[in-house]
Amino acid sequence: MTPRKIIIAGNWKMNLNVQQSSLLLQHLQEHIKIQRLVEVVLAPSLLALQPLSLQLDRRRFRLAAQNAFYKDEGAYTGEVSFAMLRELVHYVIVGHSERRFYFHETPEVVRDKVAAAVRNGITPILCIGETKREHEAHETKQVLHDQLTTAISNLTSEEIESIVIAYEPVWAISSGRDFAHHEVARPDEVARAARFIRHDIAELYGQIAADKVRVIYGGSSNAENAYAYLSTEGIDGLLPGGASLQYMEFAGMVSAAERVQQAKIKELSKTNGRTT
Ligand code: PEP
Repeated sequence: MTPRKIIIAGNWKMNLNVQQSSLLLQHLQEHIKIQRLVEVVLAPSLLALQPLSLQLDRRRFRLAAQNAFYKDEGAYTGEVSFAMLRELVHYVIVGHSERRFYFHETPEVVRDKVAAAVRNGITPILCIGETKREHEAHETKQVLHDQLTTAISNLTSEEIESIVIAYEPVWAISSGRDFAHHEVARPDEVARAARFIRHDIAELYGQIAADKVRVIYGGSSNAENAYAYLSTEGIDGLLPGGASLQYMEFAGMVSAAERVQQAKIKELSKTNGRTT
């Protein structure tokens, strides 16, 4: 058995124009070497995707879109479809709390976007997580269950295996002046959420799907705490926002991921040695 591949996906949100994005990529290419064990994903603005795709070293980086619309084409002024992005990106972030909150994306919209991404051969990074109020009311398990089961309800178990699920407690995201207070999620809380997620997937799609799906964490992750989160039971990667805009921070997270993955492989080969 090999460990699930760690993914470090930087969500640049609505930051950096095309020129600034290109400069950040240039710095990242100088500081991040080819990764055998870690998948490094960049989610710049929609506008920067095309120019970055020409500049980017595909052996080192993959691109993600931050959003798309669930219809493939038609009279939807201002929207870009997953069908239009399919040659450009490997991943798309779906269900981010900022989209749920500021753009009123309902669980059903998130479900349709997940299905549209999969239909177009793009892997969704599905974000789910509870608000501060829900956290304090001990509703995390129920909120994750509701958001997850609605979002994946149109997928087969094979499709489930390849998606990425990001546990993003809204209260731990450092983005919102008016809806989120920046606090830090403890690794044991993150591990518990990952268990809930895999448990729900196992119930619905079986243990094989639950063992294969990658569950990652997002919420004020950075180079300093990356090792701790990535060593957390059931966590296969990180989705940093703020830290992904600083190349030294982001490069530090990638190198922490590589160290964690090396340690996991060593541990597994010891276990395999004992069982053969
Ligand atoms: C996010 O918005 O997905 C996020 C995790 O942001 P930050 O890392 O800045 O908390």
